[in-house]
Amino acid sequence: MTEPYDIGVLGSGPAALSIAAACSRRGASVVLIAPEPESSWVPNYCLWADEVPPEMQDLVEHRWPEASVVTPLGSRQLERTYVKLETAKLQTSLRDSFRAGSSHVVPKRVVQLEHRTDQTSVHTDDGSTHRVRVVIDASGATTPFVRRVHRKAPALQTAYGLMLHAPDHGFDPGQMVLMDFRPASSDAADPPSFLYVLPLRDGRIFLEETSLARRPAMRMEVLRARLQARLASLELEHAKRIGEEHCSIPMGLGLPAPGQSLVPFGAAASMVHPASGYLISHVLRKSDPVAKSILDGLDSGGSDAAVASGNASLWPRKHRTVWEIYGFGLETLVDMTATEIARFFDSFFQLPIQGWSGFLAGTLPPSELGAVMTRLFRSLPASVRWHLVRTGLSAGAAPLARSVLQPGMT
Ligand SMILES: Cc1cc2nc3c(=O)[nH]c(=O)nc-3n(C[C@H](O)[C@H](O)[C@H](O)COP(=O)(O)OP(=O)(O)OC[C@H]3O[C@@H](n4cnc5c(N)ncnc54)[C@H](O)[C@@H]3O)c2cc1C
Repeated sequence: MTEPYDIGVLGSGPAALSIAAACSRRGASVVLIAPEPESSWVPNYCLWADEVPPEMQDLVEHRWPEASVVTPLGSRQLERTYVKLETAKLQTSLRDSFRAGSSHVVPKRVVQLEHRTDQTSVHTDDGSTHRVRVVIDASGATTPFVRRVHRKAPALQTAYGLMLHAPDHGFDPGQMVLMDFRPASSDAADPPSFLYVLPLRDGRIFLEETSLARRPAMRMEVLRARLQARLASLELEHAKRIGEEHCSIPMGLGLPAPGQSLVPFGAAASMVHPASGYLISHVLRKSDPVAKSILDGLDSGGSDAAVASGNASLWPRKHRTVWEIYGFGLETLVDMTATEIARFFDSFFQLPIQGWSGFLAGTLPPSELGAVMTRLFRSLPASVRWHLVRTGLSAGAAPLARSVLQPGMT
């Protein structure tokens, strides 16, 4: 394959492989550059069933027709199917799809990008240079190559999980536990964390203690100790441990600034949902349209046009507004107490399913998102409303304040 490649993708995580595969399927020559392109993904990637693209249904490892949310105030059953993707199969499928086209892999770390008219030189840590027409940066949340609208430190959602072999675990295999906010032990209420449970086939069960995004992050030792306390009360502390997950997701990164010389994608592009930490559904949904926009731009106007049209397709103005509103949602959650969190989620999941699922999907237009948040605000107890108003009046949270404090609210 001769240089310059049409597309150079940085990274080999879900975002990188998904967008590389989409470009490759559309006939572009693609080079994927990452330090460990063959290393296996570990996370147990999950999403709602209605977010899995039809052509990816065979990657679903397990489906739960119901999800439960438990707080000290009560329990709710959510009638929306939740699924776990088979991680190895997802990785293989995206990799095969990428390799079926005109593809090349460079197993190196990118250290510098030099943009020139219609071409970028990508320098790697072995001193080599690779020329590409368009760079897609999918090298994760810590990429130094993306300029952002703000550099405020992200909040971190942290979690510690264990995959156990425990055939007698006692959980209903038809229901996953999305959030159980009852404290792991009497001295573990604040700051709040919740239990997440995926009962699987073959006697396996995944249990994870998760902290909502916080600044500073909740420490892994605290989460591990809380999970240990839960295992003891569930009589699972002696079950065979067959996997471990350490999770740390930066949330609320600044959106990519306008006028970039590359197209960021995935966590690098702040696509992680600022209020939930989910990303996979956005990556799977956006890969093909963004690839199409980039390649159409390349055909019609060269590299600059391709970058501009890729970024416009990834972050249209109304989606930027929606993400800013979510950014407000994130700021309200980072310092809530356990009691406020319980009241918040108890009210959130009493919203009509279209409301809470639309909020979590991140696909509602700003007006509908504002309506959902207004309805939620009205249903919250006064103490939590007060917390939201306080946050809304603080610096940087104006969009949320505008969205929730609609006329006629009080
Ligand atoms: C344990 C865990 C569980 C999660 N579970 C879910 C879930 O169930 N559902 C969901 O929607 N989301 C989940 N997430 C959130 C999100 O989906 C993941 O963080 C996802 O891995 C982010 O994908 P990414 O490809 O954008 O970035 P990453 O997965 O972080 O990949 C970045 C890639 O860039 C490479 N790289 C880094 N620096 C360079 C460089 N200088 N040059 C070239 N390459 C570089 C890295 O080696 C890596 O391959 C989870 C996250 C974690 C950590």
